[in-house]
Amino acid sequence: MIRPSHPISTVKNNKYNRDKEIFKNTYNGSLKNEKNEQNLTEEQQQLLTEFRNKINPENNPFNVNNTINIMAMTQDNRIPLNVEDLLIQEDKLFKILDNIRIKVNFNFSAEEYLEFSHINSIQNFDVFYSDPKMKSVITIAQIFEYISAILGVFLYLKNILTVQSVDHLRNILYYTHINLLMTISSLLKKISKEYENNIWVIKLRDIVNKKKSKFINGDENFVIEQNNNILFNSIGNFILTFFNNKNDFQIFSIINDILCNLSTCNLDNVKNNLSNLKNMMIYASENSNNSFVHINLPGPFLPKIDKKYEYTLVLDLDETIIHCLDQQEITPLIRPGTEEFLRELSPYYEIVIFTASVREYADEILDMIDKEKKWIQHRLYREHTTVLKRTYLKDLNKLGRDLNKVIIIDNACDNFQLQTDNGIFINTWIDDKKDKVLFNLIPILKEIVVKKIKDVRKALRKIRDTMIRFYVNGDNQPFNTVLKYITGEKKLTE
Ligand SMILES: [Mg+2]
Repeated sequence: MIRPSHPISTVKNNKYNRDKEIFKNTYNGSLKNEKNEQNLTEEQQQLLTEFRNKINPENNPFNVNNTINIMAMTQDNRIPLNVEDLLIQEDKLFKILDNIRIKVNFNFSAEEYLEFSHINSIQNFDVFYSDPKMKSVITIAQIFEYISAILGVFLYLKNILTVQSVDHLRNILYYTHINLLMTISSLLKKISKEYENNIWVIKLRDIVNKKKSKFINGDENFVIEQNNNILFNSIGNFILTFFNNKNDFQIFSIINDILCNLSTCNLDNVKNNLSNLKNMMIYASENSNNSFVHINLPGPFLPKIDKKYEYTLVLDLDETIIHCLDQQEITPLIRPGTEEFLRELSPYYEIVIFTASVREYADEILDMIDKEKKWIQHRLYREHTTVLKRTYLKDLNKLGRDLNKVIIIDNACDNFQLQTDNGIFINTWIDDKKDKVLFNLIPILKEIVVKKIKDVRKALRKIRDTMIRFYVNGDNQPFNTVLKYITGEKKLTE
């Protein structure tokens, strides 16, 4: 069976997502959905442009056609460093690791990583360093990174997804990701002064600061070298343990060959080998029985709405109201305000949890959250999603509800791309104990029901537009301001 081709993986798309990310941060984790900019009215479009220009009039990062090659200073030369590619690389690598953590099929993100990076498969970061040792340390880290993504795809294709193999891979990816962060950190030090305030540079610095563990000490060179040693053993053990039958001989021998010749690292050879591996992988992928099988059920999924409700609130699970720490034993962290949110809003809304996760996992968590089953009316799982181009979409049309009265809250805007106007794009939650977004949403969502809003889509759009307007006028926390108007704390004449 031929697997569906790759959709959500183009570089352009990734840029788009990153734009949204920046947008989201500016919004302070509040309401927004910007998926279809084409649908904006002229006035809205203009506001948006103003808003963008305000952030950085010189380098408009929201322009997806604008590739920003910024210069990094080396000893005597000025060599351009594509900061944008670096951001994408980090984003894609992190996604594999993150998907392993949150138990989502990580092979797609691994394939996405490879698809993106095949052009620059091994970025030539070594040119930024004069010390031969540093050159080789940085290059080896890059090779390991590429191998780790390849292992991610193969693990799926070979169907050797055991707790041990996945854990082992997660460990490898953890170290390769740290290495990339350290490489970025080291490259950032070489960026010439005039680019200090470039928005991509700021973003990169931000990522390093946020994602780098507090426990990592020592200079970059030292850390990467140490991690390379760990990775050398870890990758070696991995192929010995999991690719030990004769069918896997080829992948085994190629990786083994790369590991054995690292000290005399001939980059052209390595690239050749890696590209062979990638081709093997594509071949295996196309001929694999372990394909992506999903039947898109037609719906409607929900029974007739209970008389006491008029509005439906669809809530995502992972990273919207919970974050799950462990794969083997489900131990969810619960987003602050979840209980209040469900308790306060369940009299107003028919609450439906709609997750792309599997039923067994979701049920275990939901039973913990809604112990007496009095807040959540219905649960929808992965089998209720619609797979389109390898993404699990939540098609609200299949709920069997009037879309004028349905709101979905999700931390992945791709999930509700079929009905973006119904969506509230909430920021991803991992473990921030001070997060207030759910608390903040309660009054807004109540107000929509109290005011008997005819079409929630228009209301959500209005809120978003108002926030943009406030932002353009210099308000850095437009969400709070909008909230004050909605709750009557401020009058519109003010
Ligand atoms: Mg989610």
